[in-house]
Amino acid sequence: TQFSDLNLDPKVLQAVSEAGYQVPTPIQAGAIPHALQGRDVLGIAQTGTGKTASFTLPMITLLQKGRARARMPRSLVLCPTRELAAQVAENFDTYSKHTKLTKALLIGGVSFKEQDLLIDRGVDVLIATPGRLLDHFERGKLLLTGVQIMVVDEADRMLDMGFIPDIERIFKLTPFTRQTLFFSATMAPEIERITNEFLHTPEKIEV
Ligand code: AMP
Repeated sequence: TQFSDLNLDPKVLQAVSEAGYQVPTPIQAGAIPHALQGRDVLGIAQTGTGKTASFTLPMITLLQKGRARARMPRSLVLCPTRELAAQVAENFDTYSKHTKLTKALLIGGVSFKEQDLLIDRGVDVLIATPGRLLDHFERGKLLLTGVQIMVVDEADRMLDMGFIPDIERIFKLTPFTRQTLFFSATMAPEIERITNEFLHTPEKIEV
């Protein structure tokens, strides 16, 4: 499989080519076609397998096809740590650089001010740690009813850090009709339970 066989948006394809990637990794070749069809994806993959692009590239492609509505975020990516969220945001910037899509990085340790400003202005994508996302929600700053695509990255680390109740709460704040792309290195019973509860007949890809 080549990237050009994957039906990605031409602007995404161009950014991928400029990043120097030639061949999709197994998680990318496995997940991207299902994600582009609107299916839920359960990806069992470690860091270093190229999993970030396996959700970012289809997410950008789907957002490009859709239409921004009422300045509400259409996509939400949840990461266990600030560092990981910042990395995902960097990846998003790289792959979306030829589009007009916008993002906000919502992580702790920085003031709410700048993040509030971005949210008020309206962004397509939120990339967040669960605690900070819920902080914004509780301050009445954020509605997640426009979320069409939700990504959970490194769910096993979310479990280790005690974030599963936050994740469940966030799932319930998004529409039932959302598409979910869910990634974990392992399938602990608690992870299995939430995927059974919140994913809709997911396509399971294990690498
Ligand atoms: P990740 O597993 O998402 O953290 O990605 C691991 C590393 O692989 C990152 O440095 C990416 O830039 C790189 N990478 C992702 N996809 C590809 C690809 N198809 N070809 C070569 N490198 C890639």
